[in-house]
Amino acid sequence: MSKIRVLDEHIANQIAAGEVVERPSSVVKELVENAIDAGGTRVDVSVEEGGLQSIRVTDNGSGIEPEDVETAFYRHATSKIGHGRDLFQITSLGFRGEALPSIAAVSKVELLTAAGDDGRARKLVIEGGKLMLHEDAAARQGTDFTVRELFYNTPARLKYMKTIQTELGHISDVLYRMALSHPEVAFTLRHNGNTLLQTLGNGDLLQVIAAIYGTSAAKSMLPLEGESLDYRISGFVSRPEWTRSNRNAISTVVNGRFVRSYGLNQALLKAYHTLLPINRFPLAVIQLEMHPSLVDVNVHPAKLEVRFSKETELFQLVEDSIKAVLGQQVLIPKAVKRE
Ligand code: ADP
Ligand code: MG
Repeated sequence: MSKIRVLDEHIANQIAAGEVVERPSSVVKELVENAIDAGGTRVDVSVEEGGLQSIRVTDNGSGIEPEDVETAFYRHATSKIGHGRDLFQITSLGFRGEALPSIAAVSKVELLTAAGDDGRARKLVIEGGKLMLHEDAAARQGTDFTVRELFYNTPARLKYMKTIQTELGHISDVLYRMALSHPEVAFTLRHNGNTLLQTLGNGDLLQVIAAIYGTSAAKSMLPLEGESLDYRISGFVSRPEWTRSNRNAISTVVNGRFVRSYGLNQALLKAYHTLLPINRFPLAVIQLEMHPSLVDVNVHPAKLEVRFSKETELFQLVEDSIKAVLGQQVLIPKAVKRE
């Protein structure tokens, strides 16, 4: 007798949720990524009780077509890639089609979305993966997504949630990363009604740096610029005097995606070399642009880690451009002293 069965969609979604939705901040990350992919220029995030009670993300992006609203919650349903070859040239933040079904499997979701500006919208309510309501509604173009009572039906996971302050810390980190990677998008983050972050969305990265790290930090930043055959670098690094006790303020952004890369961090630290006191780290936002085929983002479900095709060239560019801008700084005070 055969013993192997293909799991039904509901169980498969709950299993996937375990990977995609680790905590409230993962929900925020996925919803904000969707808002950006939809071309939103305003993204508002409002959370209650560290996101454990509710998470609401609204955007003024493309919205979801009425006939796609339910499909969006199917597993592996995505509008972002169509062919296998697209996987090697990813230009969107999402592409796996896993977030919405995973989130909906472990929470109570309410979605209001309009794909045009004729006021016609759709409202959808899903609880624990079950469709409770789908009806016509009225709204302006864009998407308004609310996630309530995360993990209400997975008590084991709920037990692992930390304090409200810790969960909120993770959510703020997600928003900081998004804002630093997308200075052209106006973000707000509110917690229990209090505004914690607000960016203007005018494309000015220094304004975002000031909103996150403070104006004195922003004033200590030096602009980066450079390019090699395959890569372009921009962004800001702090003057060596402005240091921090950990690496958390080193951000690397590849084609608009915040990434973690040991190699990029090392290239940056190598450029500072002896300029930094021991165990002190700079504040940096390194933005890299490259052809999408030169970076593999399909390494991990959270897509934080990436692989680069021509690492040596890239790391060299990073090191050289930072050295160049720091070198100018070191020379100026010396020149002044000699006068
Ligand atoms: P992915 O982002 O990997 O495509 P998701 O499960 O996150 O998968 O979303 C499924 C689909 O739902 C997306 O491909 C997109 O078409 C649609 N969608 C989700 N959120 C939004 C949004 N805020 N605005 C417009 N479309 C959205
Ligand atoms: Mg997505």
